[in-house]
Amino acid sequence: QAKERGRNNYQFYTDAINQRALERMQIGSALRAAIEREEFVLHYQPQLDLDSGRVIGTEALIRWRHPEMGLVYPDRFIGIAEETGLIVAIGDWVLRTACQETKRLQGLGHPDLRVAVNLSARQFARSDLAHGIEAALQDSGLEPCCLEIEITESLMMHDVDGAIGSLRALKDLGVRLSIDDFGTGYSSLAYLKRFPIDNLKIDRSFVSDIVSGHEEAAIVSSIISLAHNLRLQVTAEGVETEEQLAYLRNRRCNKMQGYLFSKPVPAEMLPALLGACLPAPATAL
Ligand code: C2E
Ligand code: MG
Ligand code: MG
Ligand code: MG
Repeated sequence: QAKERGRNNYQFYTDAINQRALERMQIGSALRAAIEREEFVLHYQPQLDLDSGRVIGTEALIRWRHPEMGLVYPDRFIGIAEETGLIVAIGDWVLRTACQETKRLQGLGHPDLRVAVNLSARQFARSDLAHGIEAALQDSGLEPCCLEIEITESLMMHDVDGAIGSLRALKDLGVRLSIDDFGTGYSSLAYLKRFPIDNLKIDRSFVSDIVSGHEEAAIVSSIISLAHNLRLQVTAEGVETEEQLAYLRNRRCNKMQGYLFSKPVPAEMLPALLGACLPAPATAL
């Protein structure tokens, strides 16, 4: 009987693997065509400064308008793009498009608007990374200080000295550097101060429980202190409620991003959002 069950499990297991492999192959080959067919689009999520309550920039988030599957979110295809190497071409498209669209928005009366772009491991490992970013800036006319590059911690921990070198090359261009999903990877605090970064982004998983969970609240509060002690700015991602916002303001978190203010939206919808601001903190009378 155990043998029977073993076989069934095995069958189930291989079916699941085949299914996954099939989906990956389908997505992989469709991705290749997607670049040429211009099926990608960027949505932008506003990032707000908590002191002024104003929008200071956006994060560019890729979506895939697939002819049959509809709007496909990055969690379903970025991993595959990474494995197949297609991420390099896609990432280049993202950088160029984000810079161009942001430059255009700046011309519509938001001259200091910034944009944050996510970088994948494969992109980060390339020796011509700084070159590609410089080209995207030059071709679009966007000022380097208006571009922020988001990198995850785990991406930098593989090869710390190499990462420091790559980050330096980016800093030399004048762009801003931010660590994404901070707290979820295994970063060494000892290394953190060696990285030439400007900002930490607290992962959504901690932010979502700050009001109900004591541990999460302690983690968020510690990350904010850590950032400030290292003279870094700190952004909370995934802010969905007024209570979370109040907590973050109390702890002097610098910036926020989340559904409370806006979901990621197409570039055409941004102008209507850029003038809006967060409600002032409720003051105790
Ligand atoms: P991320 O960089 O950490 O982006 C934040 C994700 O959280 C986005 O998901 C965003 O839509 C979502 N989010 C923001 N605020 C809230 C909120 O209040 N509540 C909830 N529930 N979610 C919120 P999205 O757009 O699906 O992107 C997922 C991940 O895909 C990103 O995580 C990033 O790692 C990756 N990604 C997106 N665009 C790109 C890209 O152009 N290049 C690369 N390499 N990766 C990308
Ligand atoms: Mg990000
Ligand atoms: Mg993140
Ligand atoms: Mg994430």
